[in-house]
Amino acid sequence: MPRLKSPSISPHFDVIVVGSGAAGLYAALCLPTHLRVALVTKNTINMGSSNYAQGGIAAAVDPSDNPFLHLEDTLKAGVGLCDYEAVKFMVENAAEAIAHLVEMGVAFDRKGEKLAMTLEAAHSRPRVLHSADTTGRAIIDTLVAKVLESPNIQVISHAVALNLWLTPQKDLVQGISLLHKSKIQWLKCSVVVLATGGGGQIFAQTTNPAVSTGDGTAIAWRAGAVLRDLEFFQFHPTALSKPGAPHFLISEAVRGEGAHLIDEKGYRFAFDYHPAGELAPRDVVSRAIFHHLHKTSSDPTHAHVYLDLRPIEPERIRYRFPNIINVCQQWGIDVFQEPIPVSPAAHYWMGGVACDLMSQTSIRGLYAIGETASTGVHGANRLASNSLLECLVFAAQLSHIEIEPNLVAPDSDISQVNSDWNSEMEQIEAIRQMLPSLMWESAGISRQAELLNQALYQVNRWRDSLASLDIVKFLDNLLPNEMIELNSTNAEQQLRITAETLNLLDMGYLILKSAISRAESRGGHYRSDYPKTSNDWNLHTLVQGDRLLNSPTKINSDNSKINTVAVEA
Ligand SMILES: Cc1cc2nc3c(=O)[nH]c(=O)nc-3n(C[C@H](O)[C@H](O)[C@H](O)COP(=O)(O)OP(=O)(O)OC[C@H]3O[C@@H](n4cnc5c(N)ncnc54)[C@H](O)[C@@H]3O)c2cc1C
Repeated sequence: MPRLKSPSISPHFDVIVVGSGAAGLYAALCLPTHLRVALVTKNTINMGSSNYAQGGIAAAVDPSDNPFLHLEDTLKAGVGLCDYEAVKFMVENAAEAIAHLVEMGVAFDRKGEKLAMTLEAAHSRPRVLHSADTTGRAIIDTLVAKVLESPNIQVISHAVALNLWLTPQKDLVQGISLLHKSKIQWLKCSVVVLATGGGGQIFAQTTNPAVSTGDGTAIAWRAGAVLRDLEFFQFHPTALSKPGAPHFLISEAVRGEGAHLIDEKGYRFAFDYHPAGELAPRDVVSRAIFHHLHKTSSDPTHAHVYLDLRPIEPERIRYRFPNIINVCQQWGIDVFQEPIPVSPAAHYWMGGVACDLMSQTSIRGLYAIGETASTGVHGANRLASNSLLECLVFAAQLSHIEIEPNLVAPDSDISQVNSDWNSEMEQIEAIRQMLPSLMWESAGISRQAELLNQALYQVNRWRDSLASLDIVKFLDNLLPNEMIELNSTNAEQQLRITAETLNLLDMGYLILKSAISRAESRGGHYRSDYPKTSNDWNLHTLVQGDRLLNSPTKINSDNSKINTVAVEA
């Protein structure tokens, strides 16, 4: 690698926030304004699951409701694995977060003067605030506008965070490496906040956008952070199922407003599986569809059921779901005349980087928020509309952050790399294509040991086969503080695909390992060979490096080492 002449000083920030969804944007705004903040995001600033959110945001702000009821509903949905303190903290701080959004200008729908609320599955009260069916967009547009006018925040878009930069003792964060504008750069800072969203792209059928490749979770894992409960993935029951169309989400709120789930023959089957019918928890409704299709269809993998909006007043549909009407229309479906074909899709990752109430991970200087984090509020299953709330409440904790001084990095060398990785890309792209189908078939809605083990074997073979490629070695051997210029934008794209594929493979590997270890069914994790929930499994699954522990203890809020008792799996 030839050395170029003048090394430039590494950019230096106090805090680097990775990801510009609701969590990352709100964190950047809540950080003390005297701090120099970089907001790094791998696409445009508004691209992420947050922008896709339709149904709304849960908060017990109506006089007929209270945080205790919200807490009870959340704990129930989480099937014994919620962290009580984390849930209590979230529901008690919901009103303040909502008030802040309203003050910043988010236009929630109103009923007269009051904020309008809708009922969603497994909530005991109507408590979901919304802005038609584009609540996420309303929140993101407001937060983006505020971020862009904040002089202490520098937005770096179309930049992919690759890895963390730690001290040689690996106990303190120093910065991150970034793929940006045909360069790999190391940015120095005292604090990194991972807010990279979820990992729905691990599965072939997902409501998540293309950016949701589990990057933050993978980055934290490689750095040695503790991850928690990765086997828990929520499968949303009703994503549009039409050949060629994306798995566009048909919001829970549609069922909340009275839509019926019917099969090919018009039969309303959900009550056969749960007394709450369409409004049972998401995992129950997803499994009801899965089992019903396996009972009634000769090709259940490609079959679908229908969501019939016709029981709802047309005026109400027009007022509440203009975006769903539009998208369905684009795919030739008139929701006023015919039911929408739907099937389940991977939607929300309950597991993530283990954090305490301050959003601090097990590595000093490393924070995780939003879907990347495992704060403990979702347990084994997320209650609808709690995730946007979690993003805000835990991002706001960064307002209390105290920065340890981080010495300015020495000047970096600039190297130029002549990349010739074309011949290796076919193999990487093939694995990128095959992995999501393998994960969907083995670790999707219904799991069992044999398929999980076969999938783990295959994923490990793929990981081994990629490890010997030059492009992977190049990524593995990047040295902190070395700036590298790539010789083409093609090389940048190739590195991005490779980095994302490696992240997906690492996370696929950990989801499979965690799912194999949990010999029971609970929340988003259903094992057909262990269909019951077992009290013996009232345990979290903790992963650190290749170690997997099932533990009843939680991460210590003083950031000391986690206490794991328990069973090594
Ligand atoms: C279709 C849909 C509908 C939903 N509806 C609701 C709802 O109504 N209510 C609710 O509470 N929840 C809902 N959810 C869930 C909720 O939207 C998400 O959990 C939440 O928005 C996650 O926010 P986030 O900030 O953690 O991540 P995201 O909003 O996904 O943002 C992640 C950000 O990280 C960036 N990024 C990722 N990797 C990198 C990298 N390596 N380098 C740099 N940047 C990176 C992305 O570009 C993006 O900016 C919905 C989810 C989906 C997919």
